[in-house]
Amino acid sequence: MAVAKKEFQAESKRLLEMMINSIYTQKEIFLRELISNASDAMDKIYYKALTDDSLTFNKDSYYIKISADKENRTLTITDTGIGMTKEELESNLGTIAKSGSLAFKNENEIKDGHDIIGQFGVGFYSAFMVADNVTVITKALGSNEAYKWESNGADGYTIEPTEKDEIGTEITIKVKDNTDDESYDEFLEEYRLKAVIKKYSDFIRYPIKMDVKVSKPKEDADNEFEEVEEEQTINSMVPIWRKNKSELTDEDYQNFYQEKHYGFDKPLKHIHISVDGVVRYNSILFIPENMPFDYYSKEFEKGLELYSSGVLIMEKCADLLPDYFSFVKGMVDSEDLSLNISREMLQHDRQLKLIAKNIKNKIKSELQGLIKNDREKYEKFYESFGRQLKYGVYSDFGANKDDLKDLLMFYSSTEKKLVTLDDYVSRMPEDQKYIYYATGESNERIEKLPQTELVADKGYEILYFTEDIDEFAIKMLLNYKEKEFKSVSSGDLGLESEEEKKELEKDATENKELFDHMKSLLSDKVKQVRASKRLKSHPVCLTADGEVTIEMEKVLQQMPD
Ligand code: ADP
Ligand code: MG
Repeated sequence: MAVAKKEFQAESKRLLEMMINSIYTQKEIFLRELISNASDAMDKIYYKALTDDSLTFNKDSYYIKISADKENRTLTITDTGIGMTKEELESNLGTIAKSGSLAFKNENEIKDGHDIIGQFGVGFYSAFMVADNVTVITKALGSNEAYKWESNGADGYTIEPTEKDEIGTEITIKVKDNTDDESYDEFLEEYRLKAVIKKYSDFIRYPIKMDVKVSKPKEDADNEFEEVEEEQTINSMVPIWRKNKSELTDEDYQNFYQEKHYGFDKPLKHIHISVDGVVRYNSILFIPENMPFDYYSKEFEKGLELYSSGVLIMEKCADLLPDYFSFVKGMVDSEDLSLNISREMLQHDRQLKLIAKNIKNKIKSELQGLIKNDREKYEKFYESFGRQLKYGVYSDFGANKDDLKDLLMFYSSTEKKLVTLDDYVSRMPEDQKYIYYATGESNERIEKLPQTELVADKGYEILYFTEDIDEFAIKMLLNYKEKEFKSVSSGDLGLESEEEKKELEKDATENKELFDHMKSLLSDKVKQVRASKRLKSHPVCLTADGEVTIEMEKVLQQMPD
């Protein structure tokens, strides 16, 4: 029987090419798409069984099987799902951007159908990134007829009757031959297929099986091994983030952290979020204990793994994390995001923006919780990432300062350890006007500065700024809880009483000649020489003029123009 070839519509042809070249940057994605479709097909039986008494859903009979045939260069993906009728083949695989799964969700009024992944109607065609021929053999639930759909890509497809025993779908792709620039062999390699399944489809809720070669001890001989084929389930199926927090132990989270290669260390803290509101998502975040070795290098890429209903969309979604929390590792899974979404589209996605904002606030409040309840842990965290928070306050013209000011810590002259600004302000004596700080290379050096003497003598606490960024960040804050920051080396420390001020004026007029002479000797090195009340044991000290302190001047002078 001659089989009539039907053409894709003209728009479809263009769409197919566009999609293949733009949505999918990595070829390996095709496997994720075919597996997702298989999973959807089995979910559909599950949903049908909920309302149809003549159907039973025995979870054990549902699986996906992947098999590669190197000799014939074919890869087959078999499922025991709902299958497709001839009409469905025609409409779902013959029309690009038509999603049978989306229609199914609508028809069956599955509102929280968060398990069904498909909705975009293009995933299937990604197979053509690696295949020059795709064959679909399928038998629909409740039908006695099986059909074969076949296509070589953009120029069309054929449908004809065929034989198939079981309900379900079998998709065979003929893997492209290698070209001078591209090799496709990897998609026939067991280890590679396993890795791709693990990477994208680890949390598909049906077993994804493969026959893998394993070496086993021979039964009749000691110390001898033979290679045998064994059917294995490759995916771990249950995503930990869908589990109830109360079921999970610290160790579970740690294992997840390591399995996912988020870091080699143990995480300092995990944050498990389940939100079911305007936007729905699950997320597990980790605050690492140590700074990643490449943290301040160009290679470091911030971002969280992004999943759509358990299927990986993106490994590092940068839009989910502000730069100042770039050290956070983890994942977000949302059923409100489409699997087939490009990076560009994601950037403008409203749902994603909501999630990002939510996550930011959550990280902040968890860190604040640590300050309150586990100061030691927070200090450890701050040692690794405090600098990043200070940069956060400083960058974007201080746009983030309100998010971060409560998280800052500095070494205190009186406490001899790191304190928060809130600690400082809540201890301030009533007559103290400013939050005092001193800058220098190290705490020891600052301690010896003559400028600190008078403030310390008053019994006031001084914050020690030893990093370049410290003072810049503080300048962005301007004040904390309405208390201004004041460098101990600034001109007016706000310490002198009216009486003392008068005395100083008197000193100045009486010694005018001496000071003028000193100034002319130092010529352009100083702006003014005057008497001071701030010195105790040192005869003289330098103070800064205006807003830029001596330390800041040093930093600014080192910067390239
Ligand atoms: P989406 O999954 O976003 O709907 P696809 O292009 O991946 O888009 O698939 C198109 C449609 O083809 C699906 O919605 C589904 O109706 C049908 N389909 C694809 N693969 C299978 C399968 N293995 N079993 C049953 N139906 C399938
Ligand atoms: Mg799909």
